[in-house]
Amino acid sequence: MVGIGVTLLDLVDSHVHLHEYGESWGSYCGRFTMLAVSDDLQSSLRTVEMARHCPTVVPAVGVHPWSISEGLDIVKLARGLEELLEVGNVRFLGEVGLDRVFTPGTSSHQLRVFEAVLDLASRYGAGLSVHAAGAWREVLDLLRRYGIRVAIFHWYTGPLDLLEDVVAEGYLVGVNPALRIQRKHEDVVRAAPLEAIVTESDGPYVYRGLRLGPELIGELLVRVAEVKGVEVREVAEVVRRNFARALSRVGLSPRLGQG
Ligand SMILES: [Zn+2]
Repeated sequence: MVGIGVTLLDLVDSHVHLHEYGESWGSYCGRFTMLAVSDDLQSSLRTVEMARHCPTVVPAVGVHPWSISEGLDIVKLARGLEELLEVGNVRFLGEVGLDRVFTPGTSSHQLRVFEAVLDLASRYGAGLSVHAAGAWREVLDLLRRYGIRVAIFHWYTGPLDLLEDVVAEGYLVGVNPALRIQRKHEDVVRAAPLEAIVTESDGPYVYRGLRLGPELIGELLVRVAEVKGVEVREVAEVVRRNFARALSRVGLSPRLGQG
């Protein structure tokens, strides 16, 4: 089987809410290779549609833990996501996971939704872009239990002593431009091996006055290089290789592009 082609550029954004950019999303196409995550079923449809029009967009479908209400119909959601995995040739689920910090009120329903998503990922061999605020160990345990092979821990700010286990499973650690102002994140970048790091923006989210977006990826590579004490070019190459490996492992065919 020939995988779906993805054009791989020098600048990788492994977690961006492209559907929130309205019509201006197109300005990023061809400049960044992006794993475009979704927040709910409706934005998942939009994300799949954008990817159809742009070879540097990899679509991820799913429901964000913040979008989960007690009334969310899990059976209907799972059916909708499964349709996209089948018909839309989607190979990633995201943004999915658990949040025990910002939305603890829906904890038990979040877990039920995440388990439905994990079941889909396991059956389809799909990768995950995971949100795990305050639930880093719990999410790692669940990924292992469901036999998930490809997962990116988006904006990792979890325990440093858990990183070794995350990396040992072959999972990737998402590094965000918040590195500029978030001390905890700098500790993560220092502790994580470069071979487990991928860059991301989480755009268009605003963090402590910093408007995140793909345009910050270049600067992020420079900062990661400073923290790791290596050349920027080396960081860019290793990140691209790490991301390419994740794509290949879920059946996509990354091809080097100009950019
Ligand atoms: Zn996000």
